[in-house]
Amino acid sequence: MDDYIGKKPTADTAQSCIAPGRCNKHRGKKPTVNTLPHLLDIPWPQWQSWCAQRGLPSYRAVQLRHWVFAGRAESFEQMSDLPKRLRHELSANFRLWSTRIVAHQRAEDGTEKLLLELADAQRIECVLLRDDRQHATVCISTQVGCAMRCVFCASGLEGVVRNLTTGEIIEQMLLLQRRLTAEERLSHVVVMGMGEPLANLDALLPALEVASSPHGLGISARRVTISTVGLPEGIRRLADADCQYHLAVSLHAPDDDLRNRLVPANRNIGIAAIMEAADYYFQRTGRRVTYEYVLLGGVNDRQQHARRLAQLLTGRPSLINLIPYNPVAGLEFRRPSPLGLRRFVEVLERAGLAVHVRRRKGAEIDAACGQLRRRLCDVPHTGSGKTGQAAARRD
Ligand code: SF4
Repeated sequence: MDDYIGKKPTADTAQSCIAPGRCNKHRGKKPTVNTLPHLLDIPWPQWQSWCAQRGLPSYRAVQLRHWVFAGRAESFEQMSDLPKRLRHELSANFRLWSTRIVAHQRAEDGTEKLLLELADAQRIECVLLRDDRQHATVCISTQVGCAMRCVFCASGLEGVVRNLTTGEIIEQMLLLQRRLTAEERLSHVVVMGMGEPLANLDALLPALEVASSPHGLGISARRVTISTVGLPEGIRRLADADCQYHLAVSLHAPDDDLRNRLVPANRNIGIAAIMEAADYYFQRTGRRVTYEYVLLGGVNDRQQHARRLAQLLTGRPSLINLIPYNPVAGLEFRRPSPLGLRRFVEVLERAGLAVHVRRRKGAEIDAACGQLRRRLCDVPHTGSGKTGQAAARRD
């Protein structure tokens, strides 16, 4: 862990706000950069060696880990069973937190959304979703912005600013975990927030290792879902890592012609390559792949689309997750009609496919990907109907 001490912030952490001069919060203000290493960026073996180098018994590192992941400590100072000197030394050498909460919203159904400001004043969002069995799911971001530029998503409008670090990804989970009551249990992680997860696998995989470790957050790997626009190389890498995570491919269209318009990143990929990689994922992990499909009224919700989708997925162990679009004021996309939705489902079910229609959560908060960040950072919309909403992704 000493390797991390005294390190200068990287070029990444010195970047300015995504909307320089436009963000109300930071207009005219310089971000303060804490140069101490972020404890959560440091792998566990180095926590142990740092303690060992100071002649501390091995259980001190274990105590530290317990305070961070189970004890919900807000500061090193609160770690009451660590010697005072050790607590001071930790505070002098590491940051426990690298973000601060700049906005918090809670919906009537218990869904909570946090807007976090990173050390370099960039902003990201994460969401806590509750069910009626006291189980909770965290939805986390992996990048500031997104390079995929899906036309219905706010997060992709300005492109990608930078990858999040492992520590920043873990921190989202910890901050949301701290909002749970003693009776509630964090049971699932969905990597469906801002950014394309497979474009930041180097940081994401160690973060998910912490999430699924019994010494970390203790969430079964089978309850971790990674949602991707479909990067074949990343899908194969994930398959070979043999982590048992659940893969969700955001398809949104049954053919390249339509998908190129909805998901511009598809132009360089193509559905055939994505399906080949998804098949490989199933072969390697034995886990059926979920295909997400945001239904945009009059765009991709016709029966002909359903028939083509059925052709594409027949014979592939899969689940289709249909997500009726939720309209946002000022946007051109509209929700599919109830009849249109029913017929779409019927076509798929008649083809023998497993279909699920996602129920929306957190409807009255800015639960769509990137919406809260855009609203509070005063990021302008870029034009006709291309402002985003991926509310459905978080339902
Ligand atoms: S929907 Fe996902 S992949 Fe597409 S732009 Fe938004 S964050 Fe990126």
